[in-house]
Amino acid sequence: SSSHAALVIIGTGMAGIGLARALRRLGDQRSITLISADSGDDYSKPLLSTGFAKGLAPDKLAQRNAAELGDELNVRIITHTPVAALDVDNRTLLLDVGQAPNYEKLSSEKLSSEKLSYETLVLATGAAPRVPFSIDPSVAPRCFTINDLDDYRRFYQALGQGPARVAIVGAGLVGCEFANDLYAGGHHVSVIAPEATLLPRLLPTPLGNALGDAFNEAGIRLCLGRTIDSLTPSSGDDIVLRLDNGEAISADLVLMATGLTPRTALAEAAGLSVSPSGIQVDRQLRTSHPDIYALGDVACVDGVNAMYVQPLQASAKALAATLAGTPTLVSFGAWPIVVKTPLLPVVAYPPTTPPERWRIEGEGGDISALAENKDGRLIGFALTGGCVRRKVELSRAAPTLLG
Ligand code: FAD
Repeated sequence: SSSHAALVIIGTGMAGIGLARALRRLGDQRSITLISADSGDDYSKPLLSTGFAKGLAPDKLAQRNAAELGDELNVRIITHTPVAALDVDNRTLLLDVGQAPNYEKLSSEKLSSEKLSYETLVLATGAAPRVPFSIDPSVAPRCFTINDLDDYRRFYQALGQGPARVAIVGAGLVGCEFANDLYAGGHHVSVIAPEATLLPRLLPTPLGNALGDAFNEAGIRLCLGRTIDSLTPSSGDDIVLRLDNGEAISADLVLMATGLTPRTALAEAAGLSVSPSGIQVDRQLRTSHPDIYALGDVACVDGVNAMYVQPLQASAKALAATLAGTPTLVSFGAWPIVVKTPLLPVVAYPPTTPPERWRIEGEGGDISALAENKDGRLIGFALTGGCVRRKVELSRAAPTLLG
């Protein structure tokens, strides 16, 4: 019946869709239902922070919509429907169907109830933006996060035609990529963050400074080492951000890029093992419950939650093999993170333990930094400018991330 599927996957991000695709590639024909709280469009999330440079309309970023994807993979996709609860003993999900405007349109059969039962369940619920302070309702309509295509749609709409003044809060990967991309799209960009340099978790100070110099020269205003005291409405549609040093920044829009938290609530409420780094799974991607697996940004695999594309692709492939009958352990290689900041290219493979020392060489924007342990072994690296071409050579020498 329509209220049962052999395999239910919660989440239609790259992890959930990637798993369904990998299973079909192996010739696995079981009934699969995917459920998503969002539109279920198949899109590449990394492209979200490259679209404003080219003024790309949101629909240009979606490769196919949920209905097309369902046909292509012969899977049922339920969109705009958050899963509200998980009953592991009865292998049933409780769906919040009240949220679902196009729910019946997209499913060929009507669900008989708000319950959906499964034999095997996969949690691919991703990670949600974390906003560290509360935002007053008077400015909330001009404050955004961009973590999926629906968010991109809303921000794109708010940007409008002419150049806008955008204040970005946060200097991590997401903040820096949107800063570069919005700048390239002709907007006036400020970056505000409490850390002293850009990409503090990926780059040692001299390389963070090199990226900062490139941003400064382009005219991106950097307010580093600063926290926000208040966000208030001003004349017209302006927002004023008051900083701890008394400085005030006027903006049309505020983009919060202050980190992501794995969406573990559903799993936690159902009694699965979770930690702040995600749902705990072993190298077969199995949770603490034998019928339930997890992968992607929500999963902490044998202690590692990498939160980028290559690990989730490897996980999808390994899990598909396991589910299709060949138990397979996932491995993560030494896959460096490529930061999409064309003003100064950055590649980083941060060490997982604090290095004994960083060996830093180069000048101007072209810097390499090698992290070494106390035996002088390479355990991570960071590269900027022309030095990014050392990526392949250094990845070969660095230890793998997992397995
Ligand atoms: P998500 O894409 O977050 O998908 C989660 C899904 O779960 C969604 O469909 C959501 O609706 C659904 N969901 C959640 N809770 C529920 C619920 N209760 N009920 C029903 N559905 C639910 N990585 C790289 O490797 N390279 C890059 O260049 C890169 N660039 C990036 C740029 C940006 C701007 C961002 C934000 C990330 C970038 N990343 C990049 C990271 C990468 O995109 C993510 O690691 C990846 O997309 C995560 O996919 P996911 O499927 O695990 O999660």
